[in-house]
Amino acid sequence: MSTAPRRKAIIESFVTQTNPFDNPLSDADAKAFRRRLLAWYHKHRRDLPWRAMNGRSVNPYHVLISEAMLQQTQVATVIPYFHRFTEAFPTVDALAEADEQRVLTLWQGLGYYRRARNLHAAAKTIVGDFDGEVPMSVDDLLKLPGVGPYTAGAIASIAHGTRAAVVDGNVERVFARLMLITDPINAPATKKRLWSLAEELVPKSSPGDYNQALMELGATVCTPKVPKCFVCPVREHCRGVQETNPETLPIKLAKKKPKDVTHIVIAAERNGKYLFEQRPAVGLWSNMWQLPTWEEPPKNFSQQALCEWFENRFGMLLGKLHLTSDFKHQTTHRTIQFTVFEASVRSGRMKRNTGKWHGLKQLEHLPVSNPQARTISLLNATSS
Ligand code: SF4
Repeated sequence: MSTAPRRKAIIESFVTQTNPFDNPLSDADAKAFRRRLLAWYHKHRRDLPWRAMNGRSVNPYHVLISEAMLQQTQVATVIPYFHRFTEAFPTVDALAEADEQRVLTLWQGLGYYRRARNLHAAAKTIVGDFDGEVPMSVDDLLKLPGVGPYTAGAIASIAHGTRAAVVDGNVERVFARLMLITDPINAPATKKRLWSLAEELVPKSSPGDYNQALMELGATVCTPKVPKCFVCPVREHCRGVQETNPETLPIKLAKKKPKDVTHIVIAAERNGKYLFEQRPAVGLWSNMWQLPTWEEPPKNFSQQALCEWFENRFGMLLGKLHLTSDFKHQTTHRTIQFTVFEASVRSGRMKRNTGKWHGLKQLEHLPVSNPQARTISLLNATSS
């Protein structure tokens, strides 16, 4: 038996056999649960720049940006990006009018660049179709590029006080423990039922604070590995802590293993400048810039084959190749082995529209992916 079913069987062998989806909190329990959660939140919430607190009122545009940045990214990482981004684009109109390369450059380092493109496109839709106002309803928010049910619920409730539920990873974990949900949390049927549960529980008054409180509880108290049940404001409602070890929940179906791929990078130098190429307009890191990169070369390729690949692509001949670094980069679906060679260009003229020369220290306006930024800083370190 694999790990998830075994954990499920162990948990089910000693818990009270009720189906939490058919038996959520009673009205009185739900009321007490919300009251305790909100009281805790108002006392312990973190001071985040997009939150209405400490004299700041809510700014729907800021909520939109924060929600885009927070997808798959920790709060501490997002804060400096949020400040830089809102300084550069203080209004939704400014973002809608911005050049995409500038948007990507300001996003650089946050990863998952599709979010930046979607946010940019969402700003254009808001200006074009919604008179420059971030929509209030979930239905209208779902018309914005990159906005799914979670983001729509978060923006509607936090920015506008619309009664709408949210279910993200934190909420899933808190609900799984509170209601002792032993079905795999990432199975589509479980997700659907979690949404119904969340919709039942979200209050009419202060839905934004309630949703943020649930997520904050998951992020700071009901944490994945060691939940701090001894300080939890809703411990008395929690079946997980009463009937099992909460850290064994939620149960997840095993994810598909990321694919192993290889990218060979050539730092090709001429007169102190390096050759950069732009990635295609679709796919991973679309439209961003990079040092010439041979993706998924044949196994056991030779240095000669690498030089020929370079010559075919750019029309120039390389001198001797030097291996300069070797590292792994993880994306959601791929484990990418980056191997970087440095070489001088020996002869030839660059084929038209295949690349541009840049000094390594003048790249602030060139959007590059995280592994390319890492490569560039390694090159800078070895050349200085
Ligand atoms: Fe999570 Fe523990 Fe609170 Fe239950 S009591 S919600 S497991 S932190």
